Amino acid sequence: MTSFDLTARDGRARLGVIRTPRGEIRTPAFMPVGTAATVKGMLPESVAATGADILLGNTYHLMLRPGAERIDRLGGLHRFMNWDRPILTDSGGFQVMSLSDLRKLTEDGVEFRSHIDGSRHMLSPERSMEIQRLLGSDIVMAFDECPALPADRERIAASMQLSMRWAARSREAFGDRPGHMLFGIMQGGLERDLREESAAALRDIGFDGYAVGGLAVGEGQAAMFDCLDYAPGFLPEDRPRYLMGVGKPDDIVGAVVRGIDMMDCVLPSRSGRTGQAWTRRGQVNIKNARHADDPRPLDEACSCPACQGYSRAYLHHVFRAGEMIAGMLLTWHNLHYYQELMAGLRAAIAEGRMAAFEADFHAAREEGDIPPL
Ligand SMILES: [Zn+2]
Repeated sequence: MTSFDLTARDGRARLGVIRTPRGEIRTPAFMPVGTAATVKGMLPESVAATGADILLGNTYHLMLRPGAERIDRLGGLHRFMNWDRPILTDSGGFQVMSLSDLRKLTEDGVEFRSHIDGSRHMLSPERSMEIQRLLGSDIVMAFDECPALPADRERIAASMQLSMRWAARSREAFGDRPGHMLFGIMQGGLERDLREESAAALRDIGFDGYAVGGLAVGEGQAAMFDCLDYAPGFLPEDRPRYLMGVGKPDDIVGAVVRGIDMMDCVLPSRSGRTGQAWTRRGQVNIKNARHADDPRPLDEACSCPACQGYSRAYLHHVFRAGEMIAGMLLTWHNLHYYQELMAGLRAAIAEGRMAAFEADFHAAREEGDIPPL
């Protein structure tokens, strides 16, 4: 009931499709983040209109508010948020370590207090699988622990080995659920042998897909790319590879070149709300005074509603005035740009011209934003 097919390759870059009962996910895929059962500032049909095949939901946020059991009673996350395409949920492991208060990490799991109201909760591999089942997630992530980098080798090794024991418990607790996929998460920081050990442990357990976890946590792009030069190669060829929490447009292109199939990041929506736009020519701060009299769109080549209907001067004005439409329009533009980038990458892989695509991508960014009038 679910499958993954690779249809073309160019170097290490892969073109494919994940099939689920809720629809197809064209890879390489970018997943917008719908943290609290919404991609902030966007209607679900608008997110779909940008070209997104799949959304990401956050287990940690949804278990605390409104609660997984409540979402289940209300018909599951798809119905609750009016999104009928696939949803991937994270395991809660990363956010419980970064957001909650008074954490206590044991072999069993993590006890913590909610950052919202101080209430006590427990997350374990078994509870994470239960929550993601209640949400109705199409792609479920194994429960793991991810140390922030830099961390010493001992800490990274111990954490990775704990995550592998939790991966086995996640697999056991997930059981047999036709139509739903379970992904394991490789850890091991920037240590090549630990990455290899982690990948071997995951392959022994057996998953429908594999994530490269523990990157984009402060190590910098060069170190991340060094790791991506070997880590995806430790994973099975015939399963999707997901790089968690990435990233900026140039991170995405670099990851796809290195054999990554799926990514997610809050960046296009979060930066849209703070007045930052991403275009083919790099980053634009719409709050900058240079845009106040500029009648031109953000990007003349962009077909999103923000670029088709509004000037830089208008976007600048609504941001300065604190109007809600400001974040909405820029979020739409950013998500549209990200999905166009993914479509461009997919076409380039299909046609065997990734090297030229990558060169053009960097050349346009080096030109920078259009000069002021
Ligand atoms: Zn646009």
